[in-house]
Amino acid sequence: MIIDTHCHLGVSKFSGVDTTEEDLIRAMDWNGVQASLVMPQPTLEDISEVHRRIYRASQSYPGRIFGMSSTDPWLDEDSYRNEVNACLSDYGFVALKLHPMGHNISPLSPRCDKIYEMALEHKVPVIVHTGIGNPFSLPSLLIDPAKRYPDVTFILAHAGFAVYTDEAVVAAKYCENIILEPSWCPTYTVRKMVNTIGAERILMGSDHASNLSVELAKFHSIGLSERELEQIFYENPKRIFKLEL
Ligand SMILES: [Zn+2]
Repeated sequence: MIIDTHCHLGVSKFSGVDTTEEDLIRAMDWNGVQASLVMPQPTLEDISEVHRRIYRASQSYPGRIFGMSSTDPWLDEDSYRNEVNACLSDYGFVALKLHPMGHNISPLSPRCDKIYEMALEHKVPVIVHTGIGNPFSLPSLLIDPAKRYPDVTFILAHAGFAVYTDEAVVAAKYCENIILEPSWCPTYTVRKMVNTIGAERILMGSDHASNLSVELAKFHSIGLSERELEQIFYENPKRIFKLEL
């Protein structure tokens, strides 16, 4: 069984790509993916409305679509907490997203502490975009929150995005609570991640529906055992996001 841990619904303000519910399900069926974790894009759309749209998709496709909240940390404390509480408590979302480039904020900003605190409170992981959009997206910036919140799991989306993969590997090597999701990274760097931190701390994510086949092919091309593939594709996401499948 395969779980895709990084999908978006809606229009990206950076790439202009628009992804619909049907696009996601079609790509999942085509690639034999059982379940996908879906969040809004960095977008000019109304984020609360996109969260509701993702919730409706999770109702239309039970056990196949799970939501993740991508709420702007620049919101005041109450507005942020209200939106995140709706996502996690009412909609049953399974993670929080921090997009240092999309949200235009450093993971070290005191404003981001509320993300980590709510993740701790609700026992959900924090996915952080890394790689493109620096200095805010540098993987090493997550070492500080990972050390300050040892009971929160931090997922480095794109694991440094090809150019900063070594930095992501170092961050994960020194923080047990950092997990790597290497979408867009070269094959040999994915192999290096598995060798350094073990298959049990690696996740598969597509980021774009059209990139799903590519990410799956990468994991099948680097000499991983059936056991390691089972961990990366299924066991790790099920455990880390506490998915009920
Ligand atoms: Zn993404």
